[in-house]
Amino acid sequence: MAEPVSANVASSGGTALLSVRDVSVRFGGIVALDSVSFDVQRGDICGLIGPNGAGKTTLFNCMSRLYQYQSGDILVEGRSLTHVPIHRIAELGLGRTFQNLAMFRTLSVTDNVMVGAHSHSSAGFVSSALRLPKVGAEEKRLRERAHEIMDYLGLLPFANRPAGDLPFATQKRVELGRALAAQPKLLMLDEPAAGLNHEELEALDDVIRDIRDRYKITVLLVEHHMSLVMSLSDHIVVLNFGRKIAEGSPAQIQNHPDVIEAYLGATNQDTPGPAAPPIREGVSAFARSGGAHA
Ligand code: ATP
Repeated sequence: MAEPVSANVASSGGTALLSVRDVSVRFGGIVALDSVSFDVQRGDICGLIGPNGAGKTTLFNCMSRLYQYQSGDILVEGRSLTHVPIHRIAELGLGRTFQNLAMFRTLSVTDNVMVGAHSHSSAGFVSSALRLPKVGAEEKRLRERAHEIMDYLGLLPFANRPAGDLPFATQKRVELGRALAAQPKLLMLDEPAAGLNHEELEALDDVIRDIRDRYKITVLLVEHHMSLVMSLSDHIVVLNFGRKIAEGSPAQIQNHPDVIEAYLGATNQDTPGPAAPPIREGVSAFARSGGAHA
């Protein structure tokens, strides 16, 4: 693919692309986020990590407007998300993938990717309903963009296949394609490595880095796979029980006593159970090893 997918390349403005300011979220008696603040700079890959239940997905859901925060604010390029409706999020430049794949399983790969591209469609509802000529031109443009993204992600061989029929790792790429088609400024990836094998993980590492380097898309990465987070991130924010306990470079985070304690504590429960989530094993091993990359 010769040209960048995204027109929303990083600009050299001084403000952070994303500012999370004192955000708190409660569910009944549970404090899922407790006055969490951090910035994500343009062009960075920012890792957002923490043991299970730390509040990572809750923050993603606040940014996606699926959840409302009770206090604090989230700013994208200085603009508050507080009153932004969910259907305007893509227009602000926020794109997302989900822990559990979010796609139309019976639709083709092309159609799934085009769903993302439609968030930037300039053809209005009335024009589309009346099938005015500009709708045809718009459809062609979106189809070309989807084709470009599928080419980039190696999805062209599956273009006409129902997305739900494909192997898991390929489905994850389709979801990534859908998110990229919306031309995000900030791509939020929620556990993109979950369920992938070693080779697929290496490919994922390459593609996330490439998306940032080539297309200048800022990335916020929620991930339990520590070696991936440490390898990719410019900056890491660590949550535990809804609170930010540390932030800094991968080297700083690897040696941070509160981070090591949080992860080791997560495995030192009385009843971890036979099916303890891999994150706990992986991060604990990571912590015990002194933070060396796996
Ligand atoms: P994991 O790594 O396991 O996905 P996480 O860091 O993403 O965890 P969250 O899913 O954000 O953590 O959960 C934070 C806390 O908020 C947990 O105690 C969780 O049970 C609670 N929580 C999240 N969503 C809801 C909800 N819709 N209703 C009630 N409690 C919720």
